[in-house]
Amino acid sequence: MPHQTIWLNGELVDREHATVSVYDHGLLYGDGCFEGIRAYNGRIFKLESHLDRMERSAEKLRLTPAFSREAIRDAIRRTLDANGLTDGYIRLIYTRGAGTLGLHPFRCETPGTIIIADSIQLYPKELYEQGMHVIVARRPRIPAQCLDPSVKSLNYLNNILAKVEAIDAGVLEAIMLNYEGHVAECTGDNIFAVRNGRLVTPPPEAGILLGITRQFVIDELAPSCGLEVEQRLFRLDELLDADEVFLTGTAAEIIGVSRIDDRVIGSGVVGPVTAQLIEAFRSRVAREAPEN
Ligand code: PMP
Repeated sequence: MPHQTIWLNGELVDREHATVSVYDHGLLYGDGCFEGIRAYNGRIFKLESHLDRMERSAEKLRLTPAFSREAIRDAIRRTLDANGLTDGYIRLIYTRGAGTLGLHPFRCETPGTIIIADSIQLYPKELYEQGMHVIVARRPRIPAQCLDPSVKSLNYLNNILAKVEAIDAGVLEAIMLNYEGHVAECTGDNIFAVRNGRLVTPPPEAGILLGITRQFVIDELAPSCGLEVEQRLFRLDELLDADEVFLTGTAAEIIGVSRIDDRVIGSGVVGPVTAQLIEAFRSRVAREAPEN
């Protein structure tokens, strides 16, 4: 295994010494939150948006971070440097910290802070060229009244069990509907439909993670390609009837969907709008990935 350094509670430590307590509520209850972030060419893509989302997640969990935003920003850069990475994936994690075996979150001592920098596993290259097959999970996305999907919490079992449905069906991603039957998102990606050259994506009230890549498409990439984006609720039939469907995420970037369950989408290949956005994404991050 190549040498790897982890930033743990203020210090850079070797991977084998980067350990957390078995009493940490992050482990016992999935109590905590995280971010997945990309570095391209030494620049940390949308770092400020990730730090904003992390702060919002922590606030909704009533978890007070142990380190300031400035300290975390600095620590992320140090972790990349320590691992000799200019391109890669960064995982930032806040755990509730070590406490008792009871649920009480405020009896935990200091929250744990972890930064891991590693290489990135994208979906297989062929899928970016051919489009991926996905399924619709039978399990709905957890309603916001129960556990707000806009919180990127350490409790990902709703998504993991939907991902297992996908794996059982021989594919890598599953579309999740919300409790009312509207299209919400995928287990680890947001979703867009293309119809008559316009993009449609579920709005925040669909009960989704407000993806950083999703927002980048809405605010920057689509306008730069002359495409309009509409955020509104829609159902599965509309998605199945779309000209194109694509997914967005930090790890996935932008990837076309060629089939949903047994239904071929559009002409069953990566459509022209998706291809244009993939190209725009790649050239933008290769040139100068925006940190803001
Ligand atoms: N939805 C879920 C449930 C996710 O876990 C992710 C990945 N973080 C996304 C959407 C995509 O968000 P982002 O573009 O910020 O990676």
